[in-house]
Amino acid sequence: MKIAVAKGDGIGPEIMDAVLKIFDANKVSLEYEFVEMGKWVFDKGFSNGMTPEAQRVIEELGILFKGPMETPKGKGVKSVNVTARKTWNTYANKRTFQTLHGVDTVFSKAGILIDLTIVRENIEDTYGGIEHMLTHDVALSRRFITRPGSMQVIRYAFEMAKQKGARRITCGHKANIMKLTDGLFLECFYEVAKEFPDLKADDKIVDDLAMQLVVKPEQYDVIVMTNLQGDIISDLCAGLVGGLGFAPSANIGDHISIFEAVHGTAPDIAGKNIANPTALLLSGLAMLRHLGFTENAAVIENALLYTLEQGIHTGDFGDRSTPSLNTTQFADAIISNFGKTPKANARPLLANNPETPAVCHLDRNAMMVSKEDEQEKIVGVDMFIESIDQPDSIAQKCLHHGGTKFKLLSISNRGTQVWPTGSKYTNLVNQYNLRFEALNEQALTQQDIIGLYVSLSADYKICSLELLNMWGDKRAYSLAQGQ
Ligand code: NAD
Repeated sequence: MKIAVAKGDGIGPEIMDAVLKIFDANKVSLEYEFVEMGKWVFDKGFSNGMTPEAQRVIEELGILFKGPMETPKGKGVKSVNVTARKTWNTYANKRTFQTLHGVDTVFSKAGILIDLTIVRENIEDTYGGIEHMLTHDVALSRRFITRPGSMQVIRYAFEMAKQKGARRITCGHKANIMKLTDGLFLECFYEVAKEFPDLKADDKIVDDLAMQLVVKPEQYDVIVMTNLQGDIISDLCAGLVGGLGFAPSANIGDHISIFEAVHGTAPDIAGKNIANPTALLLSGLAMLRHLGFTENAAVIENALLYTLEQGIHTGDFGDRSTPSLNTTQFADAIISNFGKTPKANARPLLANNPETPAVCHLDRNAMMVSKEDEQEKIVGVDMFIESIDQPDSIAQKCLHHGGTKFKLLSISNRGTQVWPTGSKYTNLVNQYNLRFEALNEQALTQQDIIGLYVSLSADYKICSLELLNMWGDKRAYSLAQGQ
């Protein structure tokens, strides 16, 4: 069986070499095809951070084992890590966090054992990276949460929780504030929950969840979340079990899956051969299990757990009074412990049953669409304009723009209503949302909206617009704060 391997940037090559050395020493019957991906590939002029040959090989083999890759901050190229996850629709990012004996934390010292899995949606949310400067002062990020995308990741989370024998699955969200986006994710969660009546399904608002995870992490089992919130909460969970050096991650898709550590390229320690390879090793073990190499995975994991129990450590953790090993020595220590059984959490030796991933060759992009029963009707439009005028004066000017089709309903600034009612204590920025609704509840067309756009553009620069739709009797847009 062959998989694609990308060593990555920074500490990537060092920890990948250590992990592959452990696999080879355990005679894992995998072949590796090394592909060109990462910062250095950007620098060679490939704008998505990978060569076309790398893309071909990964699509052919269906499995990518990768080291961390650098993303330049701020302006410039997009993250190759995110590009890879999105391009190949690895919609579920599974991150497991377990107490490891020998890795002391405040919880392990108090005898509190943690065994948590976070499933983070991996494609959507603000990670679409669709951002615009609407004025010199105002930046906008579009946050997409979709029904098919949410159903896909939530169904994976429930199936995984059932397989794991989990007692509880929790949806983390902020649906009290983001009623449509997080609200949709939460709605999908409870829709899928109906298919799994034996699993206790509940939800928690993300800020409360963050606090609860720090105070009583042992009460959670599987948590499913949207992309950004899941990213933040999973780093918090890494902290609970000893840090990023112990946090593995699997990006699961229907056709292609990517296995990598949660941490980045650690530029501060790159090239010194002192990085901790454990997170990448744990990610590699998840990959071996995914491919059916269950016995190899168990032998290696038992050796890793035994090594940690012996107090053997790299420089980033463990007892500072005993000398730390470098990356290569740490890998060798694990190899020398093959066949040993750890005192805690020993994995059963289940015979290998390798299964080559079923790579199907797609000749077109899959369209995911859910059934839409309700009647759709345009009832208005939000026009986002640039202006430093006061709300009353904008409203005055807009009276005639509405014509016979529209009435100006409200004006808001940064989501807070400032006209017809509001407060002089609300600070303003140079971008307003003018909400127009249909006069006398008449049905509107897109041409009507364009008519309003043309009229309004005589007075203001229109930065963007959004249609106000009704699906049957459901409002498909939010109200402004105070409206
Ligand atoms: P980082 O995870 O690279 O480092 C944070 C801290 O943790 C550093 O002090 C580092 O030395 C330490 N650390 C991380 N991994 C370690 C390990 N295995 N052993 C010992 N110490 C370790 O985060 P960062 O500095 O914010 O990011 C550096 C680069 O990595 C950025 O370009 C970022 O975009 C990229 N990144 C990539 C991935 C990925 O490839 N999936 C994930 C996160 C960040």
